[in-house]
Amino acid sequence: MTKQFREVTAVKEIDLSIRDGELLTLLGPSGCGKTTTLRMIAGFEKATDGSIEIDGQPVTGTPPYNRDTGMVFQQYALFPHMTVADNVAFGLEMQGRPANEIDQRVRDVLAMVRLEGLGSRYPSELSGGQQQRVALARALVIEPSVLLLDEPLSNLDKKLREEMQLEILRLHRELDVSMVYVTHNQEEALTISDRMVVMNEGEIHQIGTPEEVYQSPNDEFVADFIGNANLINGTIETVNPDGYAVSLETGDQVHLGQQTSDVAMKAGQPVTLLFRPERFKIQSSSGSNGKNSLTGTVVEATYLGSRIEYFVEVGTDRRLHVAQQNLDGGNPHSAGEAIDLSFDRESPFVIPGGAS
Ligand code: ATP
Repeated sequence: MTKQFREVTAVKEIDLSIRDGELLTLLGPSGCGKTTTLRMIAGFEKATDGSIEIDGQPVTGTPPYNRDTGMVFQQYALFPHMTVADNVAFGLEMQGRPANEIDQRVRDVLAMVRLEGLGSRYPSELSGGQQQRVALARALVIEPSVLLLDEPLSNLDKKLREEMQLEILRLHRELDVSMVYVTHNQEEALTISDRMVVMNEGEIHQIGTPEEVYQSPNDEFVADFIGNANLINGTIETVNPDGYAVSLETGDQVHLGQQTSDVAMKAGQPVTLLFRPERFKIQSSSGSNGKNSLTGTVVEATYLGSRIEYFVEVGTDRRLHVAQQNLDGGNPHSAGEAIDLSFDRESPFVIPGGAS
């Protein structure tokens, strides 16, 4: 699908297939087209080009209320003058369901989102988290086959947001409903997704499980956007049956294992290595540069209880982010200390072609 707003192409020829019962997140920076994609699925936005099917049925021209979708918005969008129960009942009343069925379903769904007994309150008498549960109940009560959620938790504080993430996962498990969930929060996407779609400037850069996207990013944009990434440029020196040697811009030479890549690696080829902060092992400098280590100096050490985070300078003026579990409770390395950063030969991810 493509969506053009006058001169802005909000979504560019995306092709996306959402599996039955999966929780798929749309993730990307502000303005990348996530909300527009979701609103096209819901039917609130008309695609400039392309088509959409739900359960094999074409719905491109179908109005939102006939699409078998439910939607939860960032701003809850509850009716302030109606009680919680009336807010939740609204969709069923629009469908002309009998009163006794409505009463029963509203009670059931309020129990499902853990709001039993609050049906006669007004939205203003509820906390933010409770209001978002009402919004969820209101979308779920019509038993849609697809639930669309647009940054539903971004108005909540961190603790409540984490609690609600678990609630959404529980509902997803219990109801077996397909969910499309927009977020710009990468931690949230990594936590809740079956698969995630990473978008930038209206285009899809990668679709995959959290592990695939984190461990094997398709390109530098994804590597940089998901988690913390240290990107170091280098050139392949030699290729052996079991791996290759790369000389890095930091002056270090390292030996890597084979990686799955569409591009055959050959000597002389520029590459970018992606190191995740937690995949380094930091130790006091041994004086000799081991086979797979970078030599550097600690610039900053931050003690965070369960882990210690470092900024380490390698080469000339190149700063790396390093995170270590604080397993033995020992003293962190301190600023100014010479250290080695060693790593497993399989741990850096190799992006062919080098940095653009
Ligand atoms: P955010 O995380 O900030 O909500 P997003 O990824 O959801 O961003 P969209 O809201 O889909 O992004 O917007 C994508 C692009 O389309 C942006 O450049 C935005 O300014 C533009 N856009 C969205 N809606 C309209 C509109 N109604 N008219 C004109 N341009 C629009």
